[in-house]
Amino acid sequence: MSRTPIIAANWKMNMGPKEAREFLASLKSELCGDCKAVDKVVVPPFITIPTVMEVLDGCDCLGVGAQDVSDRDSGAFTGEISTTMLNEIGCKYVVLGHSERRQYHGETSAYVNKKVKKALAAGIIPIYCIGETLEQRESGQLETILKAQIVEGLADLTPAQAATVVVAYEPVWAIGTGVTASSADAQSAHAFIRSVLAEGFGQEAADAIRIQYGGSVNPGNAVELMGQADIDGALVGGAALVAASFAAIIKASI
Ligand code: PEP
Repeated sequence: MSRTPIIAANWKMNMGPKEAREFLASLKSELCGDCKAVDKVVVPPFITIPTVMEVLDGCDCLGVGAQDVSDRDSGAFTGEISTTMLNEIGCKYVVLGHSERRQYHGETSAYVNKKVKKALAAGIIPIYCIGETLEQRESGQLETILKAQIVEGLADLTPAQAATVVVAYEPVWAIGTGVTASSADAQSAHAFIRSVLAEGFGQEAADAIRIQYGGSVNPGNAVELMGQADIDGALVGGAALVAASFAAIIKASI
């Protein structure tokens, strides 16, 4: 089944409004007509999102995502941002369960599940991140960990809802380290993830779900990774802070 590749730039706590303007101007000059075949997304810090929207000026050539969202509707939740606010500003995606939020903010898959359901109810596409630590991989727990993260994080979704989710497989040991999973290891993990999705939601939904690879993707390794049958794009951190390398990764997925 053919799935439209999706390449997303997770800017993390980088790129204030001024830098984002410069990045978008460079990106515009780097992208080509063929890039239309790829869904391209930037995921800025909340404070930068209005500037990105202003520069895009209604153009749907680039999707915009948030790096997190609250599981609550509104009210006394200091520091939180709701799905209603993301909708108001035009965010179509939200990254949920990133390993940095799991690690530094204690987010569990069960908690992230509440956010996944909130996002779906608001019509926002979750980019749901999963992945094992090096210790878990080396002790033979890879499949157990991935399966638990999928089952708990995507609990209670209908097959139709699940089909719209983007899953990002990001081995924790590959994030920001310069060490990438080999294309064979990544493909094998992606195929396993798709089999778990098929068990939970049926083959049709599993075949529709886009599974991104994340973890030190760069222009040098992107072609081989994106060429794997079950790799449908990338969630990119460091290399997506430079417009030329983000564009090169987009082109690698065509
Ligand atoms: C990420 O944070 O999602 C990520 C994959 O980062 P990097 O590309 O820098 O490893």
